[in-house]
Amino acid sequence: MLLVKKFGGSSVADPERIVRVASRVKTAVDRGDQVVVVVSAMGDTTDDLIGLARRLTPNPSTREMDMLLSTGEQVSIALVTMALQQIGCAAVSMTGPQAGIRTDGVYGKAQITGINPERMHHELEAGNVVVVAGFQGISESADITTLGRGGSDTTAVAVAASLKADFCEIYTDVDGVYTADPRIVPNVCKLDQISHDEMLELASLGAVVLHPRAVELAKLYGVPLVVRSSFNHNPGTLIKEVGNLEQSAVVTGIAHDTNVAKIGLFDVKDEPGIASRIFRALAAENVNVDMIIQGATRGGRNDIAFTTSRDDLAKALEVVYGIQDLVAAEGVCHAEDLAKVSIVGAGMVSFPGVAAEMFRALAEEGINIEMISTSEIKVSCVIGLKDVERAVRSLHDRFKLHEA
Ligand code: ADP
Ligand code: ASP
Ligand code: MG
Repeated sequence: MLLVKKFGGSSVADPERIVRVASRVKTAVDRGDQVVVVVSAMGDTTDDLIGLARRLTPNPSTREMDMLLSTGEQVSIALVTMALQQIGCAAVSMTGPQAGIRTDGVYGKAQITGINPERMHHELEAGNVVVVAGFQGISESADITTLGRGGSDTTAVAVAASLKADFCEIYTDVDGVYTADPRIVPNVCKLDQISHDEMLELASLGAVVLHPRAVELAKLYGVPLVVRSSFNHNPGTLIKEVGNLEQSAVVTGIAHDTNVAKIGLFDVKDEPGIASRIFRALAAENVNVDMIIQGATRGGRNDIAFTTSRDDLAKALEVVYGIQDLVAAEGVCHAEDLAKVSIVGAGMVSFPGVAAEMFRALAEEGINIEMISTSEIKVSCVIGLKDVERAVRSLHDRFKLHEA
């Protein structure tokens, strides 16, 4: 079999853990499998590098940030490869560019546009384990790019797709995907399997156990994807297409995101083209906008509010103040001490009242809802950051997910 095994930061946090990763890989090789290993930076390296840059400037150039952050994964590939060689397992390391991973030129959140797997194929045929740096690639202008926080998962799935691997395994510090973040809810349940659509929602809504783009690519290219622990041999969670009959859970999981900021524009002119101007200007600066709310019109005027990540707030505010006159907004406000809590489940589409039940649970906790957004398989509420853990726990109880 051809396997892609991705090890996250906690799995390669120190030399002892790297040795354990190497021996796990060797077990597969001894069994006759071909293996590509994708690794993240060690432990908190990426955070530490960001901190280092911030000590020099509050506003580092995005190109240099990617140059800096990509070094974390480069350390890991070399060390993991050395550990493999040390136990007699032939291996070779490759940076993202060496592995043929091409991306667009959006620094800090680049998307993979293609992979040329020739060199990886060649090394696999020569009997090597190929150890690839996650989270990075090379743009058309030959610059190093990174894929956004958690992006090594996406590298792994993209590499698996390009090599037509039999399996992509994401090894992390939990046994699989749970009904909520096990760091917050004590009585979470592990899910044996979950549909792509539900996993994509959970990941997009803040469940960092998988990068959303990884789930998207797995669905698009039919890559069998499993999340499991690098610290034990328990079976993990399989992400797969699930038929309608199996989609019985009204709520499958709870996700939360603590990286939420809001911007509101008051009394903008209520006429065609206003929303388009605001959100085109934001898109032109690569600001990712999440929820958008437009109030009821009164006297030819309207309010528009939207959320973005806290990291994008400064840039978003700059854009909004820049077009305030153009859209004739009377005022602009913003808040950054916010969070988002979401319930996700493919079954909720056929059960009216799920959203109401969510609002009731939050109300009973005395938690104020600032914004709401829904789709067929999720309901999200923006709430105060200080309330988010209480909200996740109360929703987990309310929807009886400990019995999942
Ligand atoms: P890695 O460094 O291996 O990529 P991450 O920290 O990115 O690991 O992802 C694993 C973490 O995801 C877990 O430790 C857990 O706290 C968090 N997490 C959030 N939501 C979930 C969930 N629904 N199921 C499992 N883990 C989750
Ligand atoms: N090292 C990067 C991060 O911390 C990528 C990853 O771990 O997936 O976000
Ligand atoms: Mg991760």
